[in-house]
Amino acid sequence: MLLVGVMGGAIWGIGHLMDMPTKARWSMIWLLLVAVLMAQVVLPADNPLRTATGGSAAPWLILIAFGAVIAGYRQLLGYLRVRADGDVAVETPRPEAFSETELDRYARHIILREIGGTGQKRLRDARILVIGAGGLGAPALMYLAGAGVGTIGLIDDDTVENANLQRQIIHSDARIGMPKVFSAETAMKALNPFVTVRPYNRRLTDEIADDLFADYDLVLDGTDNFATRYRANAAAVRAGRPLISGALTQWEGQISVFDPAHGAPCYQCIFPESPADGLAPSCAEAGVLGPLPGVIGAMMAVEAVKLITGAGTLMRGEMLIYDALYGETRKIGIQSNPTCPVCGAGQKAAVV
Ligand SMILES: [Zn+2]
Repeated sequence: MLLVGVMGGAIWGIGHLMDMPTKARWSMIWLLLVAVLMAQVVLPADNPLRTATGGSAAPWLILIAFGAVIAGYRQLLGYLRVRADGDVAVETPRPEAFSETELDRYARHIILREIGGTGQKRLRDARILVIGAGGLGAPALMYLAGAGVGTIGLIDDDTVENANLQRQIIHSDARIGMPKVFSAETAMKALNPFVTVRPYNRRLTDEIADDLFADYDLVLDGTDNFATRYRANAAAVRAGRPLISGALTQWEGQISVFDPAHGAPCYQCIFPESPADGLAPSCAEAGVLGPLPGVIGAMMAVEAVKLITGAGTLMRGEMLIYDALYGETRKIGIQSNPTCPVCGAGQKAAVV
């Protein structure tokens, strides 16, 4: 038995030195105990390994049963604790009041009449999902993290490429080849360790969109393809979440807050169908000015902060178009399409 004790101790010690999680170390000790038990059952009585590990299965069986009861009890306690919190996803609870460091960090928000301490708390309690950690996502994610948005989800299945770095300033040369969501998480946590970042290294699909959107207060769409835009729009309408949407072509950017739940049109009201192939080339095909996503992505973060804090007037039912080549901006009114298949009367027809 001493031999097994020494082996168990060695597993625990080596695991500790290698920074292995406690759970993994316990699993290995369980494996060791099961192996010893098997040795008692399978090997002949005079086998040296069997005699060295006690010679009988009974004490090991008792030890394993005892351990299983304790593990089961702990599991039950943990489960009850999670149930009591009313939230299955266990996250580090945040203290109600801001720390001195946080108060100092957000002082320039708190001093703003339209935000104040109340607005800053709303930002801390907010959950924002950003689709795409590319050109538009880069500044939006950085500013949302800097502004102290408590929970920021980001979904993207790309990896950082050399050609991204002309504009996607959340990534870095050293992180080429890394999944974009993890690269972005690194930059956001480096900027503000007080926020929770949830990276989803995958493409947005219909299967996951509803559950994912339901978990957030609002969604920012910074994707570069129409299929994902329509998918995100439909899921946002179904979930009743506002969708802050930005788009770019070469020297021109546009932004709007699509929010049918508050009388504003949805994306599909304005763009009923995706353009024919070749009519709307991607950034890779047509080119895009490096700082342009910085302008529009930062404006998306501005609208998000306004929406969460209730400051000012949102770009609902409006689209702002920025022409960087001539330094011009213009705003156009946009209206819901009553026959829109996503948010209008067409929806019912589509369901029937
Ligand atoms: Zn619509």
